[in-house]
Amino acid sequence: MTSASTKICCLIGDPVEHSFSPLIHNAGYQALGINYIYVPFRVKDIKGAIEGIRGLGIRGASITLPHKASAIKYIDKVDPLVKEIGAVNTIANDGGVLSGFNTDCGAAIKALEEVTTLEGKRAVLIGSGGAASAIAVGLKKKGVKLVVLNRTEDKARKLARKVNAEDSGGLKKLPLVTSADILINATSVGMWPKTDQSIIPQNLLHNNLTVFDTVYNPKETRFLAEARERGCAIVYGYKMLLYQAAMQFELFTGHQAPLAAMESALTQALEGGRDATHSDRR
Ligand code: NAP
Repeated sequence: MTSASTKICCLIGDPVEHSFSPLIHNAGYQALGINYIYVPFRVKDIKGAIEGIRGLGIRGASITLPHKASAIKYIDKVDPLVKEIGAVNTIANDGGVLSGFNTDCGAAIKALEEVTTLEGKRAVLIGSGGAASAIAVGLKKKGVKLVVLNRTEDKARKLARKVNAEDSGGLKKLPLVTSADILINATSVGMWPKTDQSIIPQNLLHNNLTVFDTVYNPKETRFLAEARERGCAIVYGYKMLLYQAAMQFELFTGHQAPLAAMESALTQALEGGRDATHSDRR
């Protein structure tokens, strides 16, 4: 039951209708029995929404597309990682002072490190949008030798320059994967409903690769299924989604996130085949 003492957290994005974030966060509150609630807001006016966080005393907000870059200028304190990546996905409100964080980066690295070590490894990162930027910054901090490839070559080169990556460019360079240790899809290719698509031909996949797909709906994309067939180690996109939410949960509540409960709510929803209408459904 909500009351005047219920702490409110929210998702700010557009669209938000099909987001998994309310499910994940509310499962966590329920597991710990804490008086919090998490609600999605479809927002066009990001400046007004951030003023609303202060005005309404909202405890924390997840920020998603299309506001991850534009929200930064309305926040009081910005974590250095947010500046480096150029995107904020988390705002915590401490008595009216808004602090911005990026939990995508740490979440992706945690998901990868559960399966492989990173230092000195060679990685091919496909994509140059928000997810790719967060992952690229995280990989470079871990001492990974990085190549960034993207459909729009200029964006790959821009991201590569920003993080000091090498040999980057268009998707015609995909054969570089044959000499890589890690391959990451940070594009929306393969996402529901176009689940028959994969960003990379299966014949380029080899059994020394660790393969990470940021796409989390479906849970096992065609890309991951084909990688598994070729003997690659695989990292599910839902793990990144789970960990970025868990890190937000800890910032918002001060409690350790009950990962098992949050993961179970998420995987049940994914396995139940909830539909998707947008590339970033957080
Ligand atoms: P974004 O900023 O809009 O970037 C989209 C990227 O996908 C761009 O690099 C774009 O290439 C590429 N792309 C789109 N359609 C393509 C196609 N048909 N062929 C080749 N490349 C294509 O989106 P984002 O926020 O980075 O999200 C990218 C993916 O990451 C989405 O699937 C999203 O669900 C996922 N994601 C997952 C998590 C998680 O927690 N697991 C978190 C964030 C995002 P161009 O530059 O050429 O357009």
